[in-house]
Amino acid sequence: MKNSLQQKLFKKYPLIFMDRFKSGSITRMCDGITCRDGWYNLIDDACSQIELIGKQFKVVVTFFQVKEKFAALRIYIGRIGYSPKLSGKQIIIIGRLIHSILHYTMCHSHNVCEECGEEGSKKRQLHDYLYNRCDECWKKLLQEIATENKEYKQKLKRQKLCQQLKK
Ligand SMILES: [Zn+2]
Repeated sequence: MKNSLQQKLFKKYPLIFMDRFKSGSITRMCDGITCRDGWYNLIDDACSQIELIGKQFKVVVTFFQVKEKFAALRIYIGRIGYSPKLSGKQIIIIGRLIHSILHYTMCHSHNVCEECGEEGSKKRQLHDYLYNRCDECWKKLLQEIATENKEYKQKLKRQKLCQQLKK
């Protein structure tokens, strides 16, 4: 995700993302948010729901990792700090609520284009890699790859020509 969008989320939810300055032996938040920009709203929604629960019940949730895996959005929790005033049963219910928000976010991401955030995307494989794109973004990606291949072939051709000229 581009840095400006990441910074927006970090600023909006300082507690959730507070581990991002810690070392990689403790958290993977040090990598930043490793998915594409289209899932910004999904992450924002999940954070705002978790923050609301946090404020309501005096619970602090910090993320361990936010990434793309198998063309879906995965958010992993690092720690949940519960208020000592909560009962054991309340802690279980709040924990389940938080996990169901993240599970819903992952399920929803299957249909949201990772590039532009449009609903109705599809998973498609290309060169051993899974993409989650809407029709429009998929077309763009194929065009970009075709252009890169063409440029690469032209570069190889030029290199060969240069080598032949040197001989
Ligand atoms: Zn798209």
